[in-house]
Amino acid sequence: MQARIVTLPGDGIGPEIVAEAVRVLTRVAANCGHQFTFEEALMGGCAIDATGTSLPTETLAACESADAVLLGAVGGPQWSDPTAAVRPEQGLLQLRQHFDLFANLRPVKTYPVLAQHAPLRAELIAGVDILFVRELTSGIYFGERMEQGEGDHAWDTMFYTVEQVRRVARVAFEAARGRQGKVASVDKANVLASMRLWRRTVNEVARDYPDVELEHVLVDACAMYLMRNPARFDVVLAGNMFGDILSDETSVLAGSLGMLPSASLNNGRFGVYEPIHGSAPDIAGQGIANPIATILSAALLLRHSLQLEAEAAAVEAAVEAALASGARTADLAPVPAEAVSTTAFTDLVLDHLH
Ligand code: NAD
Repeated sequence: MQARIVTLPGDGIGPEIVAEAVRVLTRVAANCGHQFTFEEALMGGCAIDATGTSLPTETLAACESADAVLLGAVGGPQWSDPTAAVRPEQGLLQLRQHFDLFANLRPVKTYPVLAQHAPLRAELIAGVDILFVRELTSGIYFGERMEQGEGDHAWDTMFYTVEQVRRVARVAFEAARGRQGKVASVDKANVLASMRLWRRTVNEVARDYPDVELEHVLVDACAMYLMRNPARFDVVLAGNMFGDILSDETSVLAGSLGMLPSASLNNGRFGVYEPIHGSAPDIAGQGIANPIATILSAALLLRHSLQLEAEAAAVEAAVEAALASGARTADLAPVPAEAVSTTAFTDLVLDHLH
């Protein structure tokens, strides 16, 4: 197949890790007879320095004509003044809004060989393979709010429409069909009106998926279950704020921030794929960043935007095989002197990619 992929390396370690993911995608194309073309564009702090804006018009135009976007990370100390009118993360929000990227997918998988890096006992994290599906463009982060300077009260609003819940619920049920066939929908229906609408709508959508098992879990209980028995979950469906908090809570099970990919999707096949970590300015330019999160984001791109499931699974298996061979980047190496570089780890992934 032919595909046009726009890369937005961004700042800090972004260019280093995106380059490695592009090498992996290039190898996939060569192995499987696909033609991928890559176009690099500016976003984030580097775009502010070059053009005065975090998401230049040319970047948006390039993304519009692409099948998918692979992003590194944006931000860094030189652009971190909270009072600045233009900030790197504005570009990310604009990108999500412009393309209506309402479904955020965050898989959290544990690898037995990394068990010692997780904060839970090895037997608790064995077999954890959770897909968080988080609503990304509505809920309390986008609801009406009131704040009066130093005033004595302020409020935020959690707002959902049936259609907003319906479309993200469908993404979760569809994903469950390709996995273990279970959806846990998170809400706070015992207290919040918007969450009663959430539960009612998820129940409605579930009728179209009789083959998928649905359970409703209150958010406070879910936070506890995710630490007590994370392996019981398959797909976890949640609104914007609850999904944000629970997926961050669970991310620690993977052992390093450098392991976790994400996808932000709209109703079509278009998506923006990026690691969940930031631009790690403390290690930028040293060639030691862990490329796994970005390589696994490229696997999600193959799966969701290009519908290349076998190729996506091959990339995931190659990452697992590279880890099983014992190679570790600095964030995971028990002995710092034995850590391999960003490029050397990717070389191993390529060796295992068939
Ligand atoms: P961070 O995720 O960049 O780094 C946190 C810690 O994890 C650092 O010690 C870093 O070295 C380490 N780390 C992160 N990714 C790694 C990798 N792939 N390999 C090895 N180690 C890795 O978070 P931060 O330090 O709070 O933020 C740094 C900058 O990134 C800030 O400007 C922040 O605004 C930005 N940020 C951007 C995004 C994004 O682009 N989506 C997300 C979060 C933070």
